[in-house]
Amino acid sequence: MDDYIIRATAANKQIRAFAATTKEMVEYAMEIHNTSPIATAALGRLLTAGAMMGSMMKAEKDLLTLQIQGNGPMKGLVVTSDSKCNVKGYVYEPGVMLPPNSKGKLDVGGAIGIGLLSVTRDLGLKEPYSSQTTLTTSEIAEDLTYYFATSEQVPSAVALGVLMNKNNTVRQAGGFIIQLMPNADDEVIDVLESRIKGVSSITDLLDKGSSPENILENVLEDLDLEITDKLPAKFSCSCSKERVTKALISIGKKDLQEMIDENEDIEVHCHFCNKKYKFTVDELRDLRTKS
Ligand code: ZN
Repeated sequence: MDDYIIRATAANKQIRAFAATTKEMVEYAMEIHNTSPIATAALGRLLTAGAMMGSMMKAEKDLLTLQIQGNGPMKGLVVTSDSKCNVKGYVYEPGVMLPPNSKGKLDVGGAIGIGLLSVTRDLGLKEPYSSQTTLTTSEIAEDLTYYFATSEQVPSAVALGVLMNKNNTVRQAGGFIIQLMPNADDEVIDVLESRIKGVSSITDLLDKGSSPENILENVLEDLDLEITDKLPAKFSCSCSKERVTKALISIGKKDLQEMIDENEDIEVHCHFCNKKYKFTVDELRDLRTKS
């Protein structure tokens, strides 16, 4: 099944909700970045959140960046998404390994450690809008819940999960974000809170065959759930030799000359998709004349 997200409203628009299935993009990210199971889980959770949060933006060129920096051995990770759920991301230390946590699960919180979550939205205005919150558990879903509550004043339930097979391939990945709008009645709030408490793990639900639609139907049943959109989501990087060339030209004559003086071909590496772009010394000379 290909990855997708759904968007929905409930309780007469007092609730908005998103749910995603993202196994393909997480598996792809794992392959290109050669991530360890913990790094796969962390990146998969943040990619899933990125796809759903990207779809909250309106314009085609809007760009969302989620960055986590911590003092743990993984050091951090970055995900960006556009409003069409094209996501990409990478982990600073993709090979990180740790023993399971006290619940016997992949220790994402321990691998990230204490740190900060930055959410940046580039909406085509003069300055991108950025906000930072401290990490609470460093397990990512709780950190985003805290971000929504403190930075956006939107009470939210966030669930994100990546389930691995014994052979370290990705078995399931997905998540949901359910948010209370400012006009929500106390009654709706109470019902939603008790429903959220009753939800089992998102990857268990997906593994039992539930679709994102089923998951929201279960949580928001009899709250007049209305699924408004279904959007394909995928891992996609927009880098190209042309873009890398422009970036090299922009570094200026002096730095290009230093590279030329070393008299060796260079390789420019895209962090997001791990693609490598080669430039010969002759090509660098040509770029110097354009810079
Ligand atoms: Zn790339």
